[in-house]
Amino acid sequence: MKRIGVLTSGGDSPGMNAAVRAVVRKAIYHNIEVYGIYHGYQGLIEGEIKKLELGSVGDIIHRGGTMLYSARCLEFKTEEGQLKGIEQMKKFGIEGLVVIGGDGSYRGAEALTKRGFPCVGVPGTIDNDIPGTDFTIGFDTALNTVIDAIDKIRDTATSHERTYLIEVMGRNAGDIALWAGLAGGAETIVVPEYDYNMEDITSKLKRGHERGKKHSIIIVAEGVGSAVDFSRKIEEMTGFETRVTVLGHVQRGGSPTAADRVLASRLGAYAVELLLKGKGGRAVGIEQNQLVDYDIIEALAKPHNIDKKMYTLSSELSI
Ligand code: ADP
Repeated sequence: MKRIGVLTSGGDSPGMNAAVRAVVRKAIYHNIEVYGIYHGYQGLIEGEIKKLELGSVGDIIHRGGTMLYSARCLEFKTEEGQLKGIEQMKKFGIEGLVVIGGDGSYRGAEALTKRGFPCVGVPGTIDNDIPGTDFTIGFDTALNTVIDAIDKIRDTATSHERTYLIEVMGRNAGDIALWAGLAGGAETIVVPEYDYNMEDITSKLKRGHERGKKHSIIIVAEGVGSAVDFSRKIEEMTGFETRVTVLGHVQRGGSPTAADRVLASRLGAYAVELLLKGKGGRAVGIEQNQLVDYDIIEALAKPHNIDKKMYTLSSELSI
């Protein structure tokens, strides 16, 4: 392989830039040319493709977002769109592609792989919902953003003796809620993976109130519904004053943490290594701090599991 492409796709995440940098530098280190494909699969179809040099990825390791931009592209879900994409890569002499993104982006990479074009998927999403890796690039940064918000909300919650509900992102996964809830000392964490019971939630609040607790923090993962609806139910059932904060897209931005930069650098470089060995159709990840790779089709078919022991621990520590 003499020339590869790299794109970022779907929801952006902090650390994508560090991953792009690693792909470019690792490839050039091995005398491979790298072409950046801008605006994800949309840009691939339209031929928004430019050669990247060592300097093209300078001064980005610490920046959030993605210098290659991202997009959602419905056309790429069609055979016609995928064939156009392959055609463009052939035109530019690109022989392999690194796709940095979430599970939707992986499906695009899977489609290209099935059509015989070698792709490697790098997990870039704050949601931590990709099977075949313990962590995705951006999760740690998003988590730290949430923790910062929880700590600040806790100050005002204490002053006013209120119950606060904080809605966090994660799509259908509860990882951000679980980790942030445990690290932020939340009373209750509501995640889509486990059933919840409003009676349990409200009686815990009442018990805390009776023993003189000044505030309560409840973390609601977006995958279970709106924190506003939860707060209404809680007010009805307890009579306590509640406030809701929906953190939204602040969770997607910001300078990546050291952990995310390191993870992105390792995974980006590993994706290039696989392509150099002629291995396409792989999804890279990290498990127990070791780099791993799986068949991208099989990886997508696996369920993403949330850590049950951590979930249990979080409720044990907030009795
Ligand atoms: P994410 O990668 O963050 O999960 P999306 O789900 O929006 O984000 O997916 C990003 C892009 O990946 C989509 O806009 C589309 O271009 C491509 N994609 C998603 N699903 C498929 C699919 N089944 N086949 C081909 N391409 C897909």
